[in-house]
Amino acid sequence: MMLGAWCREDRLGRRLVVILQGLPCAWGKCRFCPFAMEQGVRLGEVIERNRGIIREAERLIDGCGAQRVSIFNGSSFYELPYETVSRLRRLTEGRVVDIESRPEYLTLETLEATLEALGAELLVVRVGVEVWDDRLRNDYLGKGISREEIERLSRLRLEARDRGLPVQLVAYVLFGIEGIPEEKVVESVRELNRRFDGVIAVRYHRYADWMPAEAPVSSRLKELLEREALLVDWGEEPDWIIAGRSPGSSKPSRGP
Ligand code: SF4
Repeated sequence: MMLGAWCREDRLGRRLVVILQGLPCAWGKCRFCPFAMEQGVRLGEVIERNRGIIREAERLIDGCGAQRVSIFNGSSFYELPYETVSRLRRLTEGRVVDIESRPEYLTLETLEATLEALGAELLVVRVGVEVWDDRLRNDYLGKGISREEIERLSRLRLEARDRGLPVQLVAYVLFGIEGIPEEKVVESVRELNRRFDGVIAVRYHRYADWMPAEAPVSSRLKELLEREALLVDWGEEPDWIIAGRSPGSSKPSRGP
């Protein structure tokens, strides 16, 4: 993703988007994921770069008038260096804060500790479930997220609520990718809307020849997503420039 910070206004309201450099995702096996192309591996450089991005975000946030801050790092939030996390509070305190995480990092204790560290008014954790169908999710996409894990998150969301924690869990659903038929996208939105606090639909883009092809999106699906999802991310924002490449900029000469 294009590293940096900028203001945005969309269906989620006026918000500051902060894209930090991450360390490589510990899972790293999803076959549609371009993030490994840009992850830093030198801890010192990642820390230094993130300090600069956070300084830039601090400069922007008041002018932005944003009550919401979305923090992304191309892997789980919990894989950011502690040094980086420890600098975020001035941006996040008293605001709605979006972060992303794989399920394995999420427990009542980590959610509680994150709320405390960030001082967030509401913590929204986005989890890349991508597709409800187990075979497509794990055999085809390589997500490594079992049905049990999804059900555990669904219960965790209720337990957090019972404990009075201001936490929401939101699922990403991937669409427009070869190999996932539209009815499976519709099923995913339906099933995940029931178990999470909502769904964010993400339009797949191919950045490299080794990635699956893009698939066309029907107007019927488009309408359903606009209606049923909290947000439809068409991947056209500057955040989606990955390792210097725009969406769809690979030569689509080869299939998956
Ligand atoms: S879990 Fe997320 S960051 Fe990690 S490989 Fe899969 S899509 Fe990429």
